[in-house]
Amino acid sequence: MILKPDINGFYGDFGGAFIPEMLYPNVKELTDNYQRIINSDEFKSQFQNLLKNYVGRPTPLTPAKNLSNEVGAKIYLKREDLCHTGSHKLNNVVGQILMAKMLGKKYIIAETGAGQHGVATATVCSLLGLPCKVFMGKKDVSRQQPNVFRMKMLGAEVIPVESGSQTLKDATNEAIRYWIANPNDTYYLIGSTIGPHPYPDMVAQFQSVISAEIIEQIKHFENTDAPTQVITCVGGGSNSIGAFYHFIDNPVVKLIAAEAAGNGVNSGETAASINAGTEGIIHGCYTYLMQTNDGQITEAHSISAGLDYPGIGPQHAHLAKIKRAKYVPITDIEAIEAANWLAQTEGIIPALESAHAVALLKKEKFSPTDIVVVNISGRGDKDMEEYMMELNNVRENI
Ligand SMILES: *Cc1c(COP(=O)(O)O)cnc(C)c1O
Repeated sequence: MILKPDINGFYGDFGGAFIPEMLYPNVKELTDNYQRIINSDEFKSQFQNLLKNYVGRPTPLTPAKNLSNEVGAKIYLKREDLCHTGSHKLNNVVGQILMAKMLGKKYIIAETGAGQHGVATATVCSLLGLPCKVFMGKKDVSRQQPNVFRMKMLGAEVIPVESGSQTLKDATNEAIRYWIANPNDTYYLIGSTIGPHPYPDMVAQFQSVISAEIIEQIKHFENTDAPTQVITCVGGGSNSIGAFYHFIDNPVVKLIAAEAAGNGVNSGETAASINAGTEGIIHGCYTYLMQTNDGQITEAHSISAGLDYPGIGPQHAHLAKIKRAKYVPITDIEAIEAANWLAQTEGIIPALESAHAVALLKKEKFSPTDIVVVNISGRGDKDMEEYMMELNNVRENI
């Protein structure tokens, strides 16, 4: 099992739990209990019930005939864009809120950057009746008004963070500070395969439903239960690990992920943590991140809010280092063009994040017998403002 963490939460050189001593009891409680809870019948039946009847799973695996003709391979799209709230994020949030309940926690806290994870968290807190505080940098609060309003409409309390650069990393610091002060009844809900052990492992297990479904669904179209390539995008890495998960130990399946290159890997305005980063510690784990020579984390840039993160989950760092998966930088412009391409060939407007994965279909080489699954992590509704600004060719046709 390539992705089984060791006793200290390491995947090869990466991972672990680099946390302030005052957080040890909280994290230890989770570490000691998460595996038992995930494997309990009670958890399994509640999780599966909510995925089916609330999130809307299984999501379809759509054969993309037009795209297949253009690429010269058999392309299938895994449709996480059809999940409730528009992306794969709810798979993880449902899992962790059930986990919190089974640990006897009464309150949920989370941090959010662009607001997508905050909205997902507020959604499930509303459903399952847990009060929820979402920490958000003050700058992000003013930039992301629709998501702030969504969270409030769903009943969450949004706490603007005024320290530092007033963005995601400051929101994270503030959430951790709050958790230290309220350790007994509060559960900290992390939105991707990042943070200290056991979060990356737990989130990966919740998102692994994506690849479990691919195995079942591909059989209906092809004489196999494994594609030849799985293609994803990586921010923190959760949709990607979910789509890779059950194929990682099968060396026949090529795993390829798009990193957000922003304006280019060497432009200084990038979020390509594997291609442009170095090893270090971010948010409690050892991984690749973008930092200055003296170890200050640098600001990431990507047109896509969900990929605009200066680190990468430790499992991906490991898969990159042992060369089990390949990480290819995709620029803002390539992603915009790929979104336009998918819209006009298959009638699907992807999220900007997912458009990075679609762009790999133009960069990689395929043969006609290849069976390629592209994980469409989310839908493009939230990104229409960017598309309207960037797609001159479409505007000229109006
Ligand atoms: C948040 C988000 C991502 C990035 O997060 P991962 O943890 O890397 O999956 C990708 N796609 C969409 C649509 C998102 O909302």
